[in-house]
Amino acid sequence: MSLNINSVLIHGGVDGDKVTGAVNIPVYQTSTYKQDGIGENRGWEYSRTGNPTRDALEKLIADLEQGRYGLAFASGLAAINTVLSLFKSGDKLVVSDNIYGGTFRILDNVFKNFGITYTIVDTSNLEKLEEAIDDDVKAVYVESPANPLLTITDIKAVADIAHKHGKLLIVDNTFLTPYLQRPLTLGADIVIHSGTKYLGGHSDTISGLAVVNDKDIADRLYYLQNAIGGVLAPWDSFLIIRGIKTLGVRMDRHVSNAERIARWLVDSGYVSKVYYPGLESDPGYEVQKKQADGAGAMISFVLDEKYDYKKFVKNLKLITLAESLGGVESLVCHPASMTHAAIPADIRKEVGIVDELIRLSVGIEDVNDLIADLTQAIENAR
Ligand SMILES: *Cc1c(COP(=O)(O)O)cnc(C)c1O
Repeated sequence: MSLNINSVLIHGGVDGDKVTGAVNIPVYQTSTYKQDGIGENRGWEYSRTGNPTRDALEKLIADLEQGRYGLAFASGLAAINTVLSLFKSGDKLVVSDNIYGGTFRILDNVFKNFGITYTIVDTSNLEKLEEAIDDDVKAVYVESPANPLLTITDIKAVADIAHKHGKLLIVDNTFLTPYLQRPLTLGADIVIHSGTKYLGGHSDTISGLAVVNDKDIADRLYYLQNAIGGVLAPWDSFLIIRGIKTLGVRMDRHVSNAERIARWLVDSGYVSKVYYPGLESDPGYEVQKKQADGAGAMISFVLDEKYDYKKFVKNLKLITLAESLGGVESLVCHPASMTHAAIPADIRKEVGIVDELIRLSVGIEDVNDLIADLTQAIENAR
């Protein structure tokens, strides 16, 4: 029976424990497994290589992304590290111009030292993207919506260009989750997640995931996952499975709250710019509508210069200043000094990450309370 996504969230992957009938996959808190004889095991040998709780999550994320092979890692960056380890010295990546700061950092300060280089382009501009692809380029790496300006990249168009030149497309789908966007169905080769964000959903676990369709890429990634060893622990795997069960209801509320707040911000007179791909006025609106089932719940805005952005952040009572996103509670962050501090100041300015830019991860609280908190914090920040 083919299930709709709201059912896959609850019954996808491994549905319950076959042995006991427990409706939840147990936490298999074990490092090793009894072997019945030399060369005879029951499918499990050592928990870095494989663990039933992690396996259930890996199968679940694969089902949700409509892919064939899933992998779970100790963090989003452990997933990114493992995926980037597919490449070798001399290879080059074409990367979206606003990506997660940590992704930039690992490219610039870790993989560059091993001879794997990158070119930054605005991947929402398909001509510029195609120009950047030369013989050394092995893959295009995209976030859509991108971090922190919510720039939309046409995933299918980029996949077509990448494939025309024989390159892979890697998409970081953290901001929308498979509930709203499934990049593999749009032609991506590898999907990456920070499960720390919406998938876990409660700001209590660090985790990362990857999903692919191609058997050869999957085999390489499973090899690297075991060889590098940045795997997700059984308990954390359990927590992410548990978080995913409520992803649908949470995302519906996240998105409806975000739509209300984005429209309110535009009309408020408090801000000089609102970045949210769910606004008809947003340059990414049409592509976003075509490729995803919603615009997500991340909003960035530039506070009008009448207001002091540092005071505004201090004045917030309900909304918390913190790194991260995608939890049930609303968080603000200051990209220039927090998530994107690793990006050199000149590149930051060039791409629009100005000091007055505030990124809001809209939680699932009552939206009127969130608007009231934003209002008082801004009014008192003159
Ligand atoms: C948080 C984040 C990451 C990194 O994930 P961690 O779980 O913090 O290692 C990667 N990409 C995006 C878009 C993120 O928001």
